[in-house]
This record gives sequence, structure tokens and C-alpha cells, in this order.
Amino acid sequence: MSAYEYLKQKAYECNMELPKHGLVIYTFGNVSCFDKEKGVFAIKPSGVPYEKLNPDDIVIVDLDNRIVEGSLKPSSDTKTHTVLYNNFPEIRGIAHTHSTYATAWSQAIKPIPILGTTHADHLTTDIPCTKVMSDEAIKKDYEYETGILIIETFKNLSYEEIQMVLVACHGPFTWGVTPEKAVYNSVILEELAKIAYLTKQINKNVNQIKDALINKHYKRKHGIDSYYGQNSIVKNNNKFSGGSNE
Ligand SMILES: [Zn+2]
Repeated sequence: MSAYEYLKQKAYECNMELPKHGLVIYTFGNVSCFDKEKGVFAIKPSGVPYEKLNPDDIVIVDLDNRIVEGSLKPSSDTKTHTVLYNNFPEIRGIAHTHSTYATAWSQAIKPIPILGTTHADHLTTDIPCTKVMSDEAIKKDYEYETGILIIETFKNLSYEEIQMVLVACHGPFTWGVTPEKAVYNSVILEELAKIAYLTKQINKNVNQIKDALINKHYKRKHGIDSYYGQNSIVKNNNKFSGGSNE
């Protein structure tokens, strides 16, 4: 039995969450799960549709992009995941989709503005969008350069506070302290993208939500003084559902 069985099972289950939440069609998207101690991550194989995917198809890759275990080719986006694991030391999972609304903002090359409390429940800033990749970088090593573009975007931002990004002209990547949290962030991002789009349709001149509301909503769910849900009893016990809305 493989030493990575647990990691492959987890990656399988997390990948299957993407079609379940309507975030991907056909072979689009991928989730990876990182085991920092072993220095490897499990990722979806390239070009395998979700309905045909099973745990044994999941590929184990190290942080130099070498296949450690698996008979299939890993996702074509593997190098992007490697760059993120190498530069964002606290993350243990990454999800990538082409979910409709988040991808529309990516294609528009616009950050998603923070307009309401649903957004402020999860983060206190706009959701950033990368620059458009240069021709030179596209020709060089496209998937690696996609990772570099994300790292550059976070030069002055906290990847721990903002666990999502739009890659210009492409689509969203999200991450988290667990792979389940990375997937959860993809689901939330799509909802925030949709709500922001609709809000702008109703009133294109709408202003950013005011700071007092941002702080109130973010802080009641995050940090030492959080009191939302059962947090006062069991603090941050469930990272997967953390930040949920009712
Ligand atoms: Zn993609």
C-alpha cells in the first residue's frame, strides 16, 4: 500500500467538491493537497473528467515538480501549485477553477470590489487581480510564470488574509491552511464575484462598503475577539466551515 494513500484520497475528495458546487465542467480545474512534512502534494491528473476520476489516478509530486508516485501526468497547472507552496509557507491546499463569475472578473482584469458584508465576512479588501502576463513569460514557462505573477501580486499583500486571487485573462486560484479550506474559498469567491457583478448592474456607481462595517463583520468571525457561531466555545475548531454565513 502506498505511503500517500491518505493524501490521494483527500485530493480525490476535494477535487470532487468542485463539480458538486458547480464550479467546473468537463476536465476544468484542479485541487492539490500538500503534506509539508513529506514535501509532496497530491494533485488531479491532467485531462481526466471528474466522473471518471478515482483516488488511484491522483498524482504525487514534489516541490521540484518531479512525479513521486502515479502513472498519469499531473495537472498541466502543477507548476503554478509548486510556486505557491514554495512561496506561501503556511498553505496546505490550492484550488483552481474557471467558475463563471470569478472568471468573468479575471477576463475583465478587474479586482472584485468589497461592496457588502458577505464579502467583509471573509476578507477586508478587494479580491486582487494579477497583471496580464508578458509575451516573454508566456513563451518561457507559462504555468510557472502564472505562479510568479500571483507571488508578485502578493508582494505587499498578505496571502494569509487574502486567500484568493484572479489571474488576469484566466481565472481564480484559492488556497487555505487545509485543502478543504482552499475549496471552500473557491465556492465563496464565486459567490462574492456573482454578488459584486449583480450589485454593479443595479448601481454602477456604488461605493465600497464603509470601514466600520468591514471591521465589524470581519472581526466578529476572525481573530481573538471573534464571537460568531460557536467560536466563543470552540475557537477555530473547524477550519473547513470557518467563515460560514447564515
Ligand atoms: Zn486554468
